[in-house]
Amino acid sequence: MAVADPAHGPTGEGHAFSDGPIVAPVLPLMLIPRGGKAGRAVLSPDLWRVVAKRVRERAASRCQACGVTMGSRGSRASERPEAHEGYHWIESAPGFGIQELVSIRLLCSLDHHVSHMDRTWRLARHDPSSDPAAIVSKCLDRLARMNGWSMQLTRQYGLQELRLQHLRSSRLWALNADYFRMEFGIPATSIGAVR
Ligand SMILES: [Zn+2]
Repeated sequence: MAVADPAHGPTGEGHAFSDGPIVAPVLPLMLIPRGGKAGRAVLSPDLWRVVAKRVRERAASRCQACGVTMGSRGSRASERPEAHEGYHWIESAPGFGIQELVSIRLLCSLDHHVSHMDRTWRLARHDPSSDPAAIVSKCLDRLARMNGWSMQLTRQYGLQELRLQHLRSSRLWALNADYFRMEFGIPATSIGAVR
């Protein structure tokens, strides 16, 4: 007779106990390792503004995670439109890797802060008026809701991404920003490892 195993009971979200990496369907974390760099750093501020404007136009000013329409009169600070860069981290040789810019999405500032949760937490720690623990808790709640996850799966995912960030922080990264040319026709030089 089959006996229900409480450790493998119904979880409500298919891959909670699978062995593969957890992939966020809507709002992923983007935890930049120590040697990583912002893709926009290879552009002048004027060129970056051109890119950000096009990203906003393409998305019709809607957050590409939560769908809120931004920039209308009376919209809240958490609904400011922000261009969010996504990367692939390719380990090319022992100790070295290529940080490849692969996407730029339009996010509301709330979802942007959640995706860079580590940075949001660091900033909160230096702000005497904020409560870093409460901010982390709010970020996790938002991540769970946006991705349709339980808190358990959300925490597993957070740990997975922190571990990857830690491993990546021991490497030197060179940025490949060809995406600016391929996607927007804007030439940008790739830059070497910075630490
Ligand atoms: Zn949003």
